[in-house]
Amino acid sequence: MYEPVIGLEVHIEMQTRSKMFCACPVVDSVSAEANSAVCPICAGHPGTLPVVNARAVEFALRVALALGCEINPISIFARKNYFYPDIPKGYQITQYEQPLAEHGKISLQTSQGEKTIRIRRAHLEEDTGKLTHISAEPAHSLVDLNRAGVPLLEIVTEPDFHSAEEVRLYAETLRRLVRYLGVNSGDLEKGVMRIEPNISVRPRGSQTLGTKVEIKNLNSFRALERGVAYEIARQSAMLASGRVILQETVGWDEARQLTYSQRSKEDAHDYRYFPEPDLPPLMVDSAWLEQIRAGLPELPWQRQQRLERQFGLSAAESARLVDEKPLGEYFEQVAQSGLSPRLIFAWVTGELTSLMNAAGTTSDFSKIPPQELAALIALAAAGKINQPTAKSVLMEMFTSGQGAAAIVAARGLAQLSDEETLARLVAETLAENPAETASFRAGKANLFNFLFGQVMRKAGGKANPRVLRALLKARLEV
Ligand code: ADP
Ligand code: MG
Ligand code: ZN
Repeated sequence: MYEPVIGLEVHIEMQTRSKMFCACPVVDSVSAEANSAVCPICAGHPGTLPVVNARAVEFALRVALALGCEINPISIFARKNYFYPDIPKGYQITQYEQPLAEHGKISLQTSQGEKTIRIRRAHLEEDTGKLTHISAEPAHSLVDLNRAGVPLLEIVTEPDFHSAEEVRLYAETLRRLVRYLGVNSGDLEKGVMRIEPNISVRPRGSQTLGTKVEIKNLNSFRALERGVAYEIARQSAMLASGRVILQETVGWDEARQLTYSQRSKEDAHDYRYFPEPDLPPLMVDSAWLEQIRAGLPELPWQRQQRLERQFGLSAAESARLVDEKPLGEYFEQVAQSGLSPRLIFAWVTGELTSLMNAAGTTSDFSKIPPQELAALIALAAAGKINQPTAKSVLMEMFTSGQGAAAIVAARGLAQLSDEETLARLVAETLAENPAETASFRAGKANLFNFLFGQVMRKAGGKANPRVLRALLKARLEV
């Protein structure tokens, strides 16, 4: 009956070494001591002058180019004037009428198929400081200016989303992109990437937009999806009962899983934007732009499609290799061996990942060169060592740094497939376990595993399990 219409504004910190307009370092919002990365420029002292950080522009251009935006050769910084304790200058430097980039697009793989979202604009600005409100008496607020002046890219879409799922997918796709481009860590909980959906609903078939409500402080994908779904339901119910939606900004209450009003349109500021007099127009010359374009890596969505095509992986498998970039790169290096990609995927995401996690060196693949993992997988695949042996060899490779073949040779681990030797071990084992042997023959089928284990032990764990199983079975059935 009602159709949701949603547009997104996303703020992404450009995690450069220094801030947007001064030499202060960009520090971690959680671990750094408050106000330890502040200077007169980002603290807004009168008489100081901002200077644009070229690296921040470059980072922003990487993102804008990846999103297929047109880059404006000249963009203009403006002052957005308002008073708040976290904005020491009394204004924020941002881009308003002439943004850095416009008219991009991004494709999403939704459960309903591929969907394209248009990017309206992407512009550069500076982040604000951070306030911490302490409610315990005497109630007060703490101001931390470490974040003030950190470069921020704001990406605004057209109102092209029609479900909470699409919104979530967009946010995830964008996060993967900025992590790939090396411009942002993607830590939503730390606020380095902030997503603000604008939501309206309208009668199905209507072409006009309904009144929108913007949700703030969503700090996880789950909160984003739930917040959007909540607003769609709330607004639809309002319209169904003949009420009108008020244009407002709402917050997301994670504990109660609902939105609450923060401010209505009537309180909206008049920011009195005007061009920033202390900064010249930002010029992006075409040679620099082409250099940045040429330096773009394979983008995550391109990589995912290639991995599926090239290695016959499923969408979920290739998504994992894309999400965990070092894992994906390592996988591809091992895959150069020509061994089965699925087998390699299983080893890399299974045994090797567990070893690294247990050692507290997640994503550090330097312990085992790719060709050595390939050598190990090849030994196991060719039946030279059995599966449990292969796992213990991998562990030894991991701890000692030795190669697979060297470990197998030194410890005499080569799998025992020789039928004569195995048959002798079977005969000995049955002679040593007459009661169990008799019980098995009398119908206690589960004793097979016990006897199998006994022979394997005699073989030092190295018996070829397939050959051993056949021999033991034949011997027990006479
Ligand atoms: P504001 O000036 O309030 O930030 P904008 O026109 O810049 O509003 O739009 C902000 C975001 O909201 C954009 O992503 C846009 O696509 C989206 N948007 C605008 N109007 C609507 C609407 N009626 N319903 C849903 N989304 C909307
Ligand atoms: Mg807005
Ligand atoms: Zn500073």
